[in-house]
Amino acid sequence: MSSSVAAAASGLWERALDLVFPPRCVACGAFGAFLCARCLAAMPRAEPPRCPVCWMPGGISGPCDRCLDRAPRFAAARSAFVYHDAAREAVHALKYRGVSALADAMAAPMAKVLEAWSPPVSAVVPVPLAGSRRRQRGYNQSELLAREISRCTGLPLAARALVRRRATAPLARTADEATRRALVEGAFAPGPAPVSGGALLVDDVLTTGATLDACAAALIGGGAAPTFALTFARED
Ligand SMILES: [Zn+2]
Ligand SMILES: [Zn+2]
Repeated sequence: MSSSVAAAASGLWERALDLVFPPRCVACGAFGAFLCARCLAAMPRAEPPRCPVCWMPGGISGPCDRCLDRAPRFAAARSAFVYHDAAREAVHALKYRGVSALADAMAAPMAKVLEAWSPPVSAVVPVPLAGSRRRQRGYNQSELLAREISRCTGLPLAARALVRRRATAPLARTADEATRRALVEGAFAPGPAPVSGGALLVDDVLTTGATLDACAAALIGGGAAPTFALTFARED
C-alpha cells in the first residue's frame, strides 16, 4: 500500500470511528458533543493584559522583554485559551486520541478570536506535520483547524504554502531560546503554492513560539507578509 493510500485509509478509519462511537465530551465524558457547552464555557480564556506580539500574560504598556530583546518573525500571535484543564484535554484528544471530529468545535472559538482581532490576512496556513506523523495520525490537526477556520471566515485555505522538511522533537520549555530556535530552524520551507500578502498561521497549541517563528520565516521567504499566528491554546 502506498503511503498516500495508507494515509487516506487511516483517515477514513478515524472518521468511521467517529461515527461508530457517539460523541462524548473529551473533557467531562458527557454524551452529546465532543466538547460540551459547559466545558467549553469553563475553558480558561487567554485574555488581556498580554504582550501585543507574543500574547504572553502581563504586557500592559507594550511588547514583553522577550519580544523587545528578539522580536519573533510573525507580527503577532493570539490564542483562544490557556493550555489548562479542558483546553489541554481537547488538544490531547485531537492530537493523540484520534478525535478528529473535535476540530470543528475547537475552531469555532478560534474564528471568534480572529474576527475580534482582524489582522490583515488573505489566507489561512496550517503548520505542516512531518509525513511520518501524518501517516501515524491519519491527519494533520493544524490543517483540520485551519480548514474549519477557513470555512467559518471565508478566508482561503493555503495548505501548500509551507512544507515541512523534517520532523522535530517536541520542544521543551526548559530549553533556552537559542536551543529552541536551532531545533526548528530550517525545518520548514516555502511550499509549491505560496501566499502573497498577509498570512495567518494556524496551530493547535503555542508552547515556546519557536515553531510558529520558523514557519513565519519560511512564509516570508515565500513572499507572504505580514504573517500572524492563531492557536487554540497557549502555554502561559
Ligand atoms: Zn464536558
Ligand atoms: Zn512578547
